[in-house]
Amino acid sequence: MAAKILDGKAIAQKVREEVREGVARFAAAHGRPPGLDVLLVGDDPGSVTHTRNKEKVSNELGMRGRLHRLAEGTTEAELLARIAELNADDAVDGILVQLPLPGHLREHRALDAVDPAKDVDGLHPVNAGLLALGRPGGLAPCTPSGCMRLLAEAGVPIAGARAVVVGRSNLVGKPMAALLLAHHATVAIAHSQTRDLRALCREADILVAAAGKAKLIGGDWIKEGATVIDVGLNRDEAGKLVGDVDFEAAKERAAWITPVPGGVGPMTIAALLATTLRAAEARAAKLPP
Ligand code: NAP
Repeated sequence: MAAKILDGKAIAQKVREEVREGVARFAAAHGRPPGLDVLLVGDDPGSVTHTRNKEKVSNELGMRGRLHRLAEGTTEAELLARIAELNADDAVDGILVQLPLPGHLREHRALDAVDPAKDVDGLHPVNAGLLALGRPGGLAPCTPSGCMRLLAEAGVPIAGARAVVVGRSNLVGKPMAALLLAHHATVAIAHSQTRDLRALCREADILVAAAGKAKLIGGDWIKEGATVIDVGLNRDEAGKLVGDVDFEAAKERAAWITPVPGGVGPMTIAALLATTLRAAEARAAKLPP
């Protein structure tokens, strides 16, 4: 079987158009656009590119996107004070603290300081807790939300499916597993200590790879007819961007597969903007998102 390609670029474009319409409706109703504020501490080149892109795309869709650049030597007290200002600003609907922070700053202190209603990265313990409890009203992290949208667009049945998530980070693996569970999949989470990962992956109707290891998952690890979502972003020996899955081999067995690049990546920023709009609407209506 040759897999159908889950085209993240095209689906992300569709999400962006939905957001653009929602932003226009919101602005007409409330006399201001939804606001997304991104905090970047330091000059890490990858983070500079990512955060500039978030600012640019949010503005393209009619939001008020702002990037706040703080010096590498910013103290924790200064960072927390900046977050408190944004929490108090009614025109700010989404606050994103770009990770990783420089080593002298404690990530949990910054993430915990963000108002949960504005926590569009879904990393505040309140939002992570709501997701873990399977309760509505929280904001989920963007990459897993984007993956769920890909599954929905492909029409992949989730209820009752066996899903395997490779990776247990707070940003990707854990929330991904929680979202699949909330949609009634039977979920296993694998990590670096998992024994016989190949056998586990071979059981998966839905396989989400988020380990950050180039071509960790071979073609013969894929169950015939599975859906493969490759979150990994790695450079191979030749410097080429590759996922965690051996795409060429896996596409011979899967029914659906995301390419790298052009799969999950474009969905992440689209999901961030959709979440920001939802946060804005919920705050305006004084309801939980
Ligand atoms: P992370 O925090 O480094 O977590 C990686 C996870 O994979 C850990 O739980 C780790 O296990 C597990 N792992 C590592 N090697 C493994 C192995 N050989 N077998 C099984 N599990 C293994 O990374 P992350 O932030 O979740 O990101 C994962 C990947 O997704 C990275 O490549 C990242 O660049 C990419 N990413 C892409 C997007 C996008 O928009 N496309 C967004 C976010 C992340 P332990 O917990 O035991 O260490």
